Amino acid sequence: MSDRKNELFYKKHHLADIMDAGEKQLCEEYCSKYMNYLDAAKTERLAVKKAIELAEKYGFKPFKYGETYSAGDKIYKSVRGKALILAVIGKKNLEEGAHICAAHIDSPRIDLKQVPVMEKDEVAYFKTHYYGGIRKYQWVAIPLELHGVVVKKDGTVVDVNIGGDPADPQFMISDLLPHLASKQSQQPLSTAIKGEDLNLIIGTIPAADSEGTDRVKLNVLEILNEKYGIVEEDFLSAELEIVPAFNAREIGLDRGLIGGYGHDDRVCAFAELQAIFDIEDPEYTAVCILADKEEVGSTGITGMGSEVFECFMGDLCEQQGANMYHCFENSFCISADVTNAFDPSFPEVSEKQNNAKLNYGFGVMKFTGRAGKSGANDASAEVVGRVRKIFSEANVVWQTGEIGKVDEGGGGTVAGTLSKRNIDTIDAGVPVISMHAPYELVAKFDCYMAYKGVKAVYMEK
Ligand code: MN
Ligand code: MN
Repeated sequence: MSDRKNELFYKKHHLADIMDAGEKQLCEEYCSKYMNYLDAAKTERLAVKKAIELAEKYGFKPFKYGETYSAGDKIYKSVRGKALILAVIGKKNLEEGAHICAAHIDSPRIDLKQVPVMEKDEVAYFKTHYYGGIRKYQWVAIPLELHGVVVKKDGTVVDVNIGGDPADPQFMISDLLPHLASKQSQQPLSTAIKGEDLNLIIGTIPAADSEGTDRVKLNVLEILNEKYGIVEEDFLSAELEIVPAFNAREIGLDRGLIGGYGHDDRVCAFAELQAIFDIEDPEYTAVCILADKEEVGSTGITGMGSEVFECFMGDLCEQQGANMYHCFENSFCISADVTNAFDPSFPEVSEKQNNAKLNYGFGVMKFTGRAGKSGANDASAEVVGRVRKIFSEANVVWQTGEIGKVDEGGGGTVAGTLSKRNIDTIDAGVPVISMHAPYELVAKFDCYMAYKGVKAVYMEK
């Protein structure tokens, strides 16, 4: 009878039991590269910068309109420094389709308001407006960094990076001491810390030789003026982002997990990058998209809804005499975005049989959405079948994923913006614990399987 069970039942395996020593070694090497990338890529702009630096080492060149590309050529296009598209030209004409993987490189964080500087009772602050789905109570009383750009009135762009270098100061948003928090502690988590209260402490020392009010504000503006040559008005045209000051570390005595800020979705972004770096002579043109603005709905010029993608693909199609609409119709896309991992500490929100689990591989989600699949891409059985075939031929271990129990909540990805373009698209990603927290967890084995999965899609014949 147990033989029949073996034949008929669907089984999943812990990757520790099925990966051989050689592959476990490759997994370790891959993950140490990923951890280095994560530390250098704490914002979308930094993620693009680091990706370009790596891509150039692998022979990728900036795309130039009008230049002729042939099979094997490696190109990239920076989307205003905040998103990135890379491609390796395939042997087949683009009218036969491209193999696309799309991840996002923006992560939940806290942005500065346009008039941010404020002094209150001799403490200077930056006022903020958070970005994406954060749980506000998690962002107080932790060390924070500041990254971004300030564009001065004359057009000069100043790069600001404070807190990443060990010699730098860092920042913090304060919280109440438990001794005086009895009222705050009675409030629900969602309202105990309010958006308008997420003020970043930036100084407490008044300017020497000054009088009257706002002497601390004056001092911090002096420091910024000296370091960056900026004045308060320059914040009007600035994009400054506050991110956790945590670097990636191995977690657990067995070192099986990686803790870090922004695994969502840089863990899939890096899988795509390393995969497109490692492929040689693909049949179909391989396209790697690192999009911005997913966390706020894929909007804006650098988000996946933007026609920047048509601009790039249209240029490539034009020089091959291919019709872009037919290219899209014949293309195949993995929307590579993280999924939630089953958390044994909070089992009540997940349905175990369908939820992704740490260490069980690439999490493929036929659908996302919430409450009756609302807003879901919902890949067809044919598309799921194609992924099954690709993964089984390339020994990619994968599992199903589902964002929580039915009617518990849900989520979305860039998948909808791609399927809207008549591209067969399916969601797949690395399972994450504590998603959207300042520090998230992923399993090394799953990271490696995501890399293998994306590579297999690029190399499908
Ligand atoms: Mn995501
Ligand atoms: Mn997210």
